[in-house]
Amino acid sequence: MVVSFLAILFLLIVLVIAVVGFKAVIMQGRSPADAGTEKCSICLARHPLDRLVARQVGDHRLLYFCRQCIVALGEDLSRVPRGEEAPQKDTGR
Ligand SMILES: [Zn+2]
Repeated sequence: MVVSFLAILFLLIVLVIAVVGFKAVIMQGRSPADAGTEKCSICLARHPLDRLVARQVGDHRLLYFCRQCIVALGEDLSRVPRGEEAPQKDTGR
């Protein structure tokens, strides 16, 4: 009787550890305050999603950019000499 009680107690402890570990893996360091936010891909600061511009790179990767970084990119671009206006696209042919 005592042995079965200890066995059940041990199983409960293992179950609790598994649930806590699973939650830690799912959250991956995100706190509830981080919900609805994303990191800017350039400055790595966290911003609300509605303040970011998203661009898909390749098939899966989604990059986010904040206003300050886009403005800084625009200022950098203004210093780049203008070349041909229509870039040649690689059509794969
Ligand atoms: Zn940024």
